Amino acid sequence: MRFETFLKVAAAALLGVFAFTGAASSEPLAKQLFGAKKLPAVAAPQSFGFYSKGCFAGGMAIAKDGPHWQAMRLSRNRRWGHPELVATLERLSREAARDGWRGLLVGDISQPRGGPMLTGHASHQIGLDADIWFTPMPARRFTNAERENVSAVSMLKGDSLYVDDRKWTPAHEAVLRRAASYPQVERILVHPGIKKKLCDTVRGDRRWLQKVRPFWGHHYHFHLRIGCPAGSSGCKPQAAPPPGDGCDKSLDWWFTDEPWRPAKGPAKPKARDIMTMASLPAACRAVLDAPSPASEMAVTLTGDGQGQQAAADLPVLGYGPIDPASVLSAIPADRVPRPSSRPGFQ
Ligand SMILES: [Zn+2]
Repeated sequence: MRFETFLKVAAAALLGVFAFTGAASSEPLAKQLFGAKKLPAVAAPQSFGFYSKGCFAGGMAIAKDGPHWQAMRLSRNRRWGHPELVATLERLSREAARDGWRGLLVGDISQPRGGPMLTGHASHQIGLDADIWFTPMPARRFTNAERENVSAVSMLKGDSLYVDDRKWTPAHEAVLRRAASYPQVERILVHPGIKKKLCDTVRGDRRWLQKVRPFWGHHYHFHLRIGCPAGSSGCKPQAAPPPGDGCDKSLDWWFTDEPWRPAKGPAKPKARDIMTMASLPAACRAVLDAPSPASEMAVTLTGDGQGQQAAADLPVLGYGPIDPASVLSAIPADRVPRPSSRPGFQ
């Protein structure tokens, strides 16, 4: 090959790489558009698309502090979810406290309007996924700096695949059991070692173990996923987990070398790093363009309302109508942002 030809080929190859990663493409990346949003889309709460490919409207934040929770990593601005998920977290925090779990340390939920994230998670895009630390909240309030820097504690023994019995307690089982007891919770992702621990130790009714699914990571936190909420016709449900408690051959596979072998061949780009708006449901364009609420506080769930703005003072927002039969009934009605107009998209 002549040198000029080589240069041309090399330049074309480079251009191809840039086009592929979006760097030279005129289409902005969806993660940049959604990652730039500071507040949710004012519209009826609706999730669009799938957990790893979508967005949502009518998002609500969980307050930085609640009676039984503390939100972590505040700078990420990922305290946003579909109101049904936020209500589920509030209820879990309250009921788990009665079970002996001092309170939830809430990790990432979603960006204000969901969508792919600039960093981290493939899922968490439609406001229906939340990460909860396996560390119960302390008796005191963390400072903002601590919320950025405190490390979660792995439940595993060293770098093994097994739970460290000095860290695992009956309260860990109880908080997972409580979360799995809610009909709207469809899956809880945990490290295979934690699934195995539950398989080996849970007594009595074991049906809830069906929802607890082994997955990579998830030894510092568990991942709670609720199903498509009522009123979200554009939300694509995930297939139900296979029947049974999952303490079977499918779990044994995780304790072979195969799941832990490095992938062969060149690393493929992550979907979230190449998605443009064309990859997402059409409704996500309207979600991006929708107006923001007057303030974050106007759309923040504050639990028992301690030290926070009373809901009666909230400005009227375009949220709703809200299905009273949904889990939202767990929130006192006066704390749900009031409906006014319907958005122009389905
Ligand atoms: Zn997660």
